[in-house]
Amino acid sequence: MEAAVFHGDKKITVATVDRPVAGPGEVLLKVRRTALCGSDTKLWIKGAEFTPGHEIFGVVQQPGHALDGRRCLVYIPVHCGHCDSCRAGDTQMCLNESVLVGWNRPGGYAEYLTVPEQCLLPVPDDIEDDIAPLLLDTIGTAAHGIRFVMPLVPPADTGPVLVTGAGPVGMGAVVALQNLGYQDVYVSDLKEERLQLAESFGAKRHPVGSHDRRFKLIVECSGSHAARSLGMEIVLPRGVLILIGESDLPWPVQENKAIRRKDFYMVRTFYFPKSDFALNVELLRKEKARYRRLVDAQFGIDQLPEMFGRFVAGELVKPLLSFA
Ligand SMILES: [Zn+2]
Ligand SMILES: [Zn+2]
Repeated sequence: MEAAVFHGDKKITVATVDRPVAGPGEVLLKVRRTALCGSDTKLWIKGAEFTPGHEIFGVVQQPGHALDGRRCLVYIPVHCGHCDSCRAGDTQMCLNESVLVGWNRPGGYAEYLTVPEQCLLPVPDDIEDDIAPLLLDTIGTAAHGIRFVMPLVPPADTGPVLVTGAGPVGMGAVVALQNLGYQDVYVSDLKEERLQLAESFGAKRHPVGSHDRRFKLIVECSGSHAARSLGMEIVLPRGVLILIGESDLPWPVQENKAIRRKDFYMVRTFYFPKSDFALNVELLRKEKARYRRLVDAQFGIDQLPEMFGRFVAGELVKPLLSFA
């Protein structure tokens, strides 16, 4: 089979390797679509021990298994199922396991991968292949972050909300916010095309770096230090800044009056609990037309090196690696 190799220094090649064999408790998945994700940029720069790709959709090819032939997404956090977190439903933050598919074991920039059975999320027939991967990071991660903080900032008392970063997770946050009852949504981004996309989704512009407006809820989806620090300054007293965007770099914070002289919540959320999946399918069903607009390219694995570069340059929102 063909699989991508991330060498580091922005170099990707496609190699022919042996098809993996499922071990006990695993199944073989034939990949149909894997969405590119900005978080893989780290691996593009540093190199990866395993094949990356963690927004994976495919068909189980495991004769005799109950899910053989079923269309499934891959829920990437491997989880023990019995620790306090897992029992509370927080399968994305298991206390015993820290393996993520596509990070700590091979992922979906390949024709096949093996998947622990517990990580299979069967996809209903009315969700087409081309939008199925959006149920993971774009919908799942964004909607979970907002659901997590809703009790602190209920829509009725919150007023305008700011989303910083209008990439796939930011756009996913815009749609999720509107569906959860936050109607007045502002977006900031450096790219004009992304602001226009956000406007076409009913959001308004908030200029990057502006202190002119303050917000009770800020959903930070860029991972940019400047956006995080600004969020701490312009979040209103008793408000919430959620950090959904990620960064690997040290983040120096200059604590000033705007940050020091108020009570506020700064919240990190990661991925989503498995139990959110049914809610996320409902959200996708209701908003198919808008989510579909985020998928702006599909291509074969031979084009991955070029398309990954274009994606990192911000030319594309949510391109999909696609297998026939
Ligand atoms: Zn991702
Ligand atoms: Zn656990």
